[in-house]
Amino acid sequence: MSNVAIFVPHIGCPARCSFCNQHIISGQGQRVSAADVRRILDTALENERHAENQIAFFGGSFTAMEREYIKELLDAAAAYRKSFAGIRISTRPDAIDEEMLTFLKAYGVTAIELGAQSMDDEVLRLNRRGHTAEDVERASRLIRAGGFELGLQMMTGLYGDTPEKAVDTAKRFVALNPQTVRIYPTVVLEGTELDRLYKAGAYTPQTVEQAVELCVRLIPIFEDAGIRIIRLGLHASEDVGGKKTAGAYHPAFRELCMARIYYDNALSVLEGLPEGAYTLAVGSGHVSQMTGQKKENIKKLAAAGYAVRIREDSRLPAYRVKIINEGTGNQTQCI
Ligand code: SF4
Repeated sequence: MSNVAIFVPHIGCPARCSFCNQHIISGQGQRVSAADVRRILDTALENERHAENQIAFFGGSFTAMEREYIKELLDAAAAYRKSFAGIRISTRPDAIDEEMLTFLKAYGVTAIELGAQSMDDEVLRLNRRGHTAEDVERASRLIRAGGFELGLQMMTGLYGDTPEKAVDTAKRFVALNPQTVRIYPTVVLEGTELDRLYKAGAYTPQTVEQAVELCVRLIPIFEDAGIRIIRLGLHASEDVGGKKTAGAYHPAFRELCMARIYYDNALSVLEGLPEGAYTLAVGSGHVSQMTGQKKENIKKLAAAGYAVRIREDSRLPAYRVKIINEGTGNQTQCI
């Protein structure tokens, strides 16, 4: 399932969060109208597979906008509801209550994502979020009780954040039982408060490498709980790439994380084996992740004394690496 995304930049936000410049992230600065919604959805309907897609209002604080404006957009979307799998919105945790959920349900909204960002109140305060972790918990419970799909979004590397706080945020997310999560390592964008703090020397953003190391710890927390990670890193966008001043942006961030997980898995077994030539077998679709970007994993393993070739074995599940000694043919270990 994918989304037909309609961005509603900044409208409804009570303040500007430290990291946010929605006009850059969405690549759009105009107020979206009902006519825009219809145009976007008409275009999507030309796609044969539209019935699998959701209509998705992203990018702002949807439920914090004026009620008349929300109605205008949802009225336009509701006319197309039968042609799509559902309607998805993203909003702030402090802009959800039972009355709003009843209203959204009447318009056919099926999934609600909360921009939680952190479950540490000090990190939320420092980054001017204007809500608390308790707001996230309260809104999440209401959304689940109302029969909606719940999505939670977190960021890593915010001002005042630490890897331990991020791990704690992930664990507290799991306790809220969301169906999906998104993880966004912080990217410092021009014109934001974080950019000002960074340039003043008061804030040190995460590097891509640090963000990968942390996300490799976060991924299993969610996957072991059966929660889908539907986004890891900001979308590859020339706008973001050109307007970032620092931080953990990489156009293939998820692939970097997966490559690191495969590398760690392979090395943990190879370290117990003699140096030499090995074949590493991985499941379907995972050869590039075992290989790493620009063959980085192969090069690092070679430097450690292991000349490896990689091949696909469709019987292996994700993350499993079968290691075959090329000299003896022994299939030494599976992870
Ligand atoms: S609430 Fe969301 S859209 Fe609004 S300023 Fe904060 S991050 Fe940006």
